[in-house]
Amino acid sequence: MSIPDLEALHALGPAQQPTYPDKGAVDAAVARLRTMPPLVFAGECDDLTAKIAAVTRGEAFLLQGGDCAETFAGVTADNVRNKLRVLLQMAVVLTYAASVPVVKVGRLAGQYAKPRSSDFETRDGVTLPAYRGDAVNGFDFTSEARIPDPQRLVDVYNSSAATLNLVRAFVTGGYADLRQVHTWNTDFVRESPVGQQYEAMANEIERALTFMKAIGADPDEFHRVDFHSSHEALVLEYEHALTRIDSRTDLPYDVSGHFVWIGERTRQLDNAHVELLSHIRNPIGVKLGPTTTPDDALALAAKLNPQNEPGRLTFITRFGAGRIRDGLPNLVEKVTAAGVEVAWVCDPMHGNTFEASSGYKTRRFDDVIDEVQGFFDVHRSLGTWPGGIHVELTGDDVTECVGGGEELLEVDLGHRYESVCDPRLNRVQSLELAFLVAEMLRK
Ligand code: PEP
Ligand code: MN
Repeated sequence: MSIPDLEALHALGPAQQPTYPDKGAVDAAVARLRTMPPLVFAGECDDLTAKIAAVTRGEAFLLQGGDCAETFAGVTADNVRNKLRVLLQMAVVLTYAASVPVVKVGRLAGQYAKPRSSDFETRDGVTLPAYRGDAVNGFDFTSEARIPDPQRLVDVYNSSAATLNLVRAFVTGGYADLRQVHTWNTDFVRESPVGQQYEAMANEIERALTFMKAIGADPDEFHRVDFHSSHEALVLEYEHALTRIDSRTDLPYDVSGHFVWIGERTRQLDNAHVELLSHIRNPIGVKLGPTTTPDDALALAAKLNPQNEPGRLTFITRFGAGRIRDGLPNLVEKVTAAGVEVAWVCDPMHGNTFEASSGYKTRRFDDVIDEVQGFFDVHRSLGTWPGGIHVELTGDDVTECVGGGEELLEVDLGHRYESVCDPRLNRVQSLELAFLVAEMLRK
């Protein structure tokens, strides 16, 4: 199967692309990227497809999470470990409390490019091009920083490689060993009520592990986890340069990450993103907002998964807490009636963003929970499987979303607001979410 060349994709008039001032520099960066080794193997992508097929069948639950936007400065050992740690904690809560296998996917090692609702940003009467993620331009509010620089795409590759290298070392080198279940619960989170709840669960798990060991059972699964990377496939130069023909199968894979998705703003059927992702063999996702019609979803499924293979396609719905109960049923009903194989995942973040009076972009923890509850209610009433959650989170105790057990208020947002894009759940809020979702799964 051949893939369209970059020029052909650009001829489709893709949305949300950087306007590079220097075409020669773009060609040089793309040429460099084409020589770089794959970040992931095609066989690993196939393994993830098989796991998401289990989600599609209602036999597993997908946990996908990480920053809204990774930054180059954020590629530090502490930062990567903290994100991995909260995802491992959430996964163990979901697995243990709900007795369901959890497919773990980080929104990391490639999540550097952002679609924006406006091409410009104005501060104090000064208007500059919007920040489009470290993949494209700088966050500093200066005209120099905001010029798109294609060399950044090579930096994305290197930062992703460094992140993935550390993640792989952590998950196979002992850190993700279930016997570390207590170790993940350190520092500030341990003292919180949800940290105590986790501690009690970890004690139970430890007792179970001791018992298993005593009877001579010590399977490999106790010592390592499968963990996958994902990001929005947005900048065509980058994703195209990392699309390679797999030597085993002769089929194209985007080897920049295991799972890639198309955002709400770039999912037009005839656009370049849908075209490119229709050719690659990775498991893929599409974000679906409240304006999505059943016909849109069916057309996307026909184009992106013409063989109707389970595991290939995930629909990530992001309706907002106020709209999911009215809007989602029709979509799920029609897609299901058409026999489309898809994993349904809830992004309870992007339909619930608002600006606090202080000017910070934020989300209410209660709205996040309410959207996930609505997602479960809709799927339960239709007899379909609420297959997973896609969340923006961090392993640190930032103050970006309001509410939760710590009862963060709008006036607290300034204490530690570090996101360069959308507000993330902090570690305590993320763990609370995991326990609440485990409850929903159990019912
Ligand atoms: C995102 O995931 O950060 C994002 C921009 O989402 P959406 O495409 O759903 O708006
Ligand atoms: Mn976001």
